[in-house]
Amino acid sequence: MKSLGAFEVWFLTGSQDLYGEETLRQVAVDSERVAAALDAAEAMPVRVVFKPVVKSAESILATCREANSADACVGVIAWMHTFSPAKMWIAGLQALAKPLLHLHTQYNRDLPWGEIDMDFMNLNQSAHGDREFGFIETRLGVARKTVVGHWQDPYVVDRIAGWTRAACALREARHLKVARLGDNMRDVAVTEGDKVEAQVRLGASINGYGVGELAAAIAAVPEKAVTDLVETYRAEYSVEPKLLPGGEYHSSLQDAARIEAGLRAFLDARGAGAFTDTFEDLVGIPHLPGLAVQRLMSEGYGFGAEGDWKSAILVRLVKVMTAGLPGGTSFMEDYTYHLNPSGQKVLGAHMLEVCPSIADGKPRCEIHPLSIGGKPDPVRLVFDAGTGPAWVACMVDLGDRFRILANQIDLVEGEPLPRLPVARAVWQPRPDLRTSAEAWLTAGGAHHTVLTRAIDVEVMADFAEMAKLEFVLIDSDTRMRTFKNELRWNQAYYRLARGF
Ligand code: MN
Repeated sequence: MKSLGAFEVWFLTGSQDLYGEETLRQVAVDSERVAAALDAAEAMPVRVVFKPVVKSAESILATCREANSADACVGVIAWMHTFSPAKMWIAGLQALAKPLLHLHTQYNRDLPWGEIDMDFMNLNQSAHGDREFGFIETRLGVARKTVVGHWQDPYVVDRIAGWTRAACALREARHLKVARLGDNMRDVAVTEGDKVEAQVRLGASINGYGVGELAAAIAAVPEKAVTDLVETYRAEYSVEPKLLPGGEYHSSLQDAARIEAGLRAFLDARGAGAFTDTFEDLVGIPHLPGLAVQRLMSEGYGFGAEGDWKSAILVRLVKVMTAGLPGGTSFMEDYTYHLNPSGQKVLGAHMLEVCPSIADGKPRCEIHPLSIGGKPDPVRLVFDAGTGPAWVACMVDLGDRFRILANQIDLVEGEPLPRLPVARAVWQPRPDLRTSAEAWLTAGGAHHTVLTRAIDVEVMADFAEMAKLEFVLIDSDTRMRTFKNELRWNQAYYRLARGF
């Protein structure tokens, strides 16, 4: 069962009529085998659909138009098995509105030194056929990903698979509805942004709702749904005794269940795949949603705190990118540092809203006071994130464009935090905390991020390329002097690319 099996990428092979029927028949057979192998690969989350070999400008344009209008098609893979004169591709590539991957492979892996003859040379021409195609892509300024290698090489399959995940996220962005419960946290800058521009660039529509509408949805939750959820909590988490039936705070657990059921119903009734809330606007609801937000995130909803719709979008998109993969994805915030020279670390957490998909082991369900918001104590899941390589990313609005800024990190074990009952993650950013934070601040990065352990950061880079967003990465190779120059050059590029 493919995790994104409702979606497909089309496998397009270019050729021309010049080769004669026999060669073209072989081209079709080989291409179908390559497409079928990619489709069957375990790493491939979508269907890979073979399309008849294209041999003329008319058939190329027709296929590209078809791809544009096919709802399930999230992107197109193109490969030139033979030479395909690229003027034939101009109209098609200009019309293509779906992400493009240029696969530079050849059917045979090894050169058959002893048997090679002119017929073989006539058939296996991607080494120069794909150069012809690459030229016209560059000449037309077509955004694409280029993947090089034999089609059976797991490295090639993985890179294509990652790209298809980014393409599914782009499709999601085009359809996404973000529900904002209450506005932005007052006076905060980085969580603000241009929602019209976000819809122009990404397609996502971002709209506000009165918290009273959520309060009404919570009030309408039937008692049966509350008792069912309480049972679910007992099955999935270690619930502290005072929250259990008969316990002093059992009604707080029931409140948490009521908020969860009401929030889910509210979002689903509006077709929203992501949402925000804010502790400054909780009129009519029992307390700041903690457990509810954590559980909805683990189901795949995007979330941003304090009205942060850009983070809510990123969390939702990374949830789509990582569908079916282990490791987990969460809303995150850089909270405080460990600046000891022996190993500088970041403690990441939030007041309540960290997704249990990143938890190491069974989360504990607890109730504690929240020193902000002036409401009764909220129930939340408390856990430590698992360890290993991961990345964080934010999206900031620079006024003339959105910048996605990412940092590769290594999640490590922290020490016990007996007096800080929140879900938390501890990490060492690459290349080191000093460089990472200097680069992050220089690039204007936010305090809210999406954190994932489930996928390579290259998938986010692929997404940014598809969505024509600026993408800046801080990783093991980052040095401040070149990083600053990259930001300067990007500034010039994105202003020029925007046109007048
Ligand atoms: Mn926050």
